[in-house]
Amino acid sequence: MDLSRREFLKLSGTGAGGLILFKGLGGPAKFFGSTSTALSIPLHKKIGEITTICPYCGVGCGIIMAVEEGEIVGIEGDPDSPINQGSLCPKGASISQCSDSTSRLTTVKHRAPGAASWTNTTWDDALAAIAARIKETRDNGLVEVDGSNNVVNRTESIASLGSVFPNSEEAYLYSKMMRALGLVYIENEARICVSSAVAADTETVGRGPMSNHWIDLANGDCFLVIGGNMAESFPIAFKWVTRAMEKGAKLIHVDPRYTRTSAKADLYASVRPGTDLAFVGGMIRYVLDDMKTSPANYNMEYVREYSNAAFLVNSAFKGPADTLDGLFSGWNDSTYDKSTWQFQRDDAGAIKMDKTLQDPNCVFQLLKKHYARYTDDKVTEITGTDKATFRQICQTFAATGKTGKAGAIVFSSAACQRSTGTQTVRTLGILQLLLGNLGVAGGGLNGITGAVNGLGCTLQGLVNHWGPGADSVRMPNSGEQAFAAYGGTKGRFASILKAWYGDTDHTTSYNYLPKRGGSYDWQPLFKAIDDGTIKGLICWGINPAVSAPNSEAARQSLRKLDWMVVIDLWETETAAVWQLADCNTEVFLLPAATSLEKEGSVNNSCRWNQWRYKAIDPPGEARSDLWIINKLMMQIKDLYAGQTDKNAQAITQLTWSYGDPPDVVKVTKEMNGYDLSTGKLLSGPGALKSDGTTSCGNWLWCGMFTEDGNKAQKRVTTDSSGIGLFPDWGWAWPVNRRIMYNRASVDLDGNPWDTSRPVVSWTGTGWTGDVADGGDPPARTSGVYPFIMKAEGRGYLFGPGRADGPFPEHYEPWESPVSNPLSPQQNNPAIKVWETMDKASAADYPIVATTHRLTEHLNAAAMTRRVPWLVDLMPEMFVEMSKELAAAHGIAAGDTVVVESARGTRVKGKAVVTARIRPMQVNGTTVHYISLPWNWGYTGPSTGDSANLLFPRIGDPNTGIPEFRSCLCRVQRA
Ligand code: SF4
Repeated sequence: MDLSRREFLKLSGTGAGGLILFKGLGGPAKFFGSTSTALSIPLHKKIGEITTICPYCGVGCGIIMAVEEGEIVGIEGDPDSPINQGSLCPKGASISQCSDSTSRLTTVKHRAPGAASWTNTTWDDALAAIAARIKETRDNGLVEVDGSNNVVNRTESIASLGSVFPNSEEAYLYSKMMRALGLVYIENEARICVSSAVAADTETVGRGPMSNHWIDLANGDCFLVIGGNMAESFPIAFKWVTRAMEKGAKLIHVDPRYTRTSAKADLYASVRPGTDLAFVGGMIRYVLDDMKTSPANYNMEYVREYSNAAFLVNSAFKGPADTLDGLFSGWNDSTYDKSTWQFQRDDAGAIKMDKTLQDPNCVFQLLKKHYARYTDDKVTEITGTDKATFRQICQTFAATGKTGKAGAIVFSSAACQRSTGTQTVRTLGILQLLLGNLGVAGGGLNGITGAVNGLGCTLQGLVNHWGPGADSVRMPNSGEQAFAAYGGTKGRFASILKAWYGDTDHTTSYNYLPKRGGSYDWQPLFKAIDDGTIKGLICWGINPAVSAPNSEAARQSLRKLDWMVVIDLWETETAAVWQLADCNTEVFLLPAATSLEKEGSVNNSCRWNQWRYKAIDPPGEARSDLWIINKLMMQIKDLYAGQTDKNAQAITQLTWSYGDPPDVVKVTKEMNGYDLSTGKLLSGPGALKSDGTTSCGNWLWCGMFTEDGNKAQKRVTTDSSGIGLFPDWGWAWPVNRRIMYNRASVDLDGNPWDTSRPVVSWTGTGWTGDVADGGDPPARTSGVYPFIMKAEGRGYLFGPGRADGPFPEHYEPWESPVSNPLSPQQNNPAIKVWETMDKASAADYPIVATTHRLTEHLNAAAMTRRVPWLVDLMPEMFVEMSKELAAAHGIAAGDTVVVESARGTRVKGKAVVTARIRPMQVNGTTVHYISLPWNWGYTGPSTGDSANLLFPRIGDPNTGIPEFRSCLCRVQRA
């Protein structure tokens, strides 16, 4: 008999739940040692098994918690989860040490203005004081009318930062509260982590998140992992790559450092930090050249019909290949006038096309002209990559362009965090469109989010410009004074208004919400603190004192606040920022519950909603975020009761009846929405109406909790699709579609390109397989093309919507030791600069600094730096450098070194001298670079300098994402 470990344990009858588990290796374990002898619990005691989802990264691994008498006595990977199949990485395996930590906050703390220490206080007193600060600051600072006499009702004096870790229900409720209070400065980590991927993918294919999913990676023939170290950052997801490799798939890794991903790869290319765009630009050029000589090796029908290759562009359009100055037509020294970037249209307004792809103004020909400059030699010169390896990579990945082959691109924040982040990710989408790799099984454009619920939280509207549900329900601008003028999707927005303001007519409640009048992104937010506009800040499960660019400047900004509320598990660097230097900032520090101590859904990187159940109570006074938000808003509503000025109706009329303590199911149902005429839960977003007869807190979540129940809780372990879609495990937005753009996996008549791995297929009357994108019949009969979020249903090779060009173009990082080898334009011309210090000169700061992730720590690492196992594995800050650089500076492995930036910031760490990094020859210059993890700070048991101290406050022009992956520095022995 072939038994899994878990089946064996069940059969052996050890405990009612059948689990024998270790709580910790060296921790206060109930069980330790071999599974057959270590049982110390009498068998008559019941051990409950409760499932949860790992609280760390965006993979979303399932975990079983063994609970006995209110205590977690064991942790095990959930063998039923199709994602992790029982395996966990070190972070997931040690989660009980996170909830058990003696560093946890268990009391409510208050730092009075100027006080030298915390004092403990009560929830009642703290929440009453916070509600009073919010009301006073809001009422004093409310901008009711702007300079153009528009009613805007903006609370610019209070800001919110966070988060990506809470359950989606908590994020939704928090978003609802913040918007009702009129806040516009609302940001979370997504802004500084992957926002450029959203801007890029929205332009290319219509949506930002991963198109495919973890298990689908096993269907791939080839993988290009670029801008990320998947094996170490997302180890459980990486196993699906290795599953495909066991069947013969190839792995390509492109990265400045040789990592564990590189070690598993068939082909590895080392690139200079900040040059991925040029590398992929060269791959695009290779594919376009090869299409000419070997068209049978490519799916030209896909390119012609499903991308905008055939669209004709204004004949006055010019690109860098024409201008030779690195700029596109329309540059006016600060921004682009995009009038020449528009498509040609006929008298009826339809875009003109040339499906022969020969017209010199068609996108295909313009693309060829643009990338003709990205020759093998030029790519080698820019990136420092070995030419033969580059050529091999081009050939290998281009082989996925053949009909019936599939190649996946996987990337994460390293591709995104740069001044050309949006355009870097755009190159990935362009390459996939040319190769016909979008919509198919084993393909996709897969940008991984670093945090467990980065997607689920951000999509509740925790970035300033989005309402719950992202782009199509963006928050209204000051020019959209009435609901009739709102330019987003009216049915979706009206349904939010009905969810938030109940019986109030949605055209009236629309007026309660703030109207935007500028940029409220991360850096403008910190600038508004510096100039005194923002007086109060709520920091919810976020740690900008570690994660912000030029984090020393961020720390100084935080100390200018009148008051700050920090909601967290720990006394984070942000909470303790007043201890670094004199300041009068009043700080409330509220103890939160871990994910093991509460219930709700989380949305992983590939859009799957899964339910986390509560296993234990939080310690001491710690409470769930849902409890805290609910209590706080009830206090605020009490303060405003009876008030009619200061747009008080936005608060008094807000629906808020979740119980006390709040019932999370009520929130989930509100997010799903109701048919208000029947009172029944809606079955899907197609039912939403703009006339006020439906309510829905988030249209993307509509369909998750229907009259059939909560589908995030579904745990059907069999796969009915045959290609690993697992449609009845959890629920994926939108409408449980597992592979987005899946109508691109079939020809114009609905027949799969790849009959061995069909995602959808047309039967003549309907679709079989995955939930088809849009549901319309095949394109030939319906005229509806597969990329349904783009106006014409085609993926955009030419993208006129971005701020810095319709085609991606290589520019050097803001700080670079070399002149741009491609053009006279050194930096992205539209780059955003908030940095007040001059950029470094290569003469004074000759070394390139970049950053990387670790398996053992996550992001600012407030959670992982308190976990003994993880700190044992990865105890301190270090600096990786080449042997050559170390020798030149007299540095030996293990020496303490100091890294210094032009901003005067210094980071200390142990030297790791390694062959994984090597100097590069670029345009006749030897470029040395170092790499640092960015997971340390000054609180908790494991302290160290934060790498982000080094990086400048500059950003990509489309989203403002900082350039965390490349700046100049100098290095010396301490
Ligand atoms: Fe899985 Fe990520 Fe958790 Fe590791 S950290 S167990 S890969 S979800």
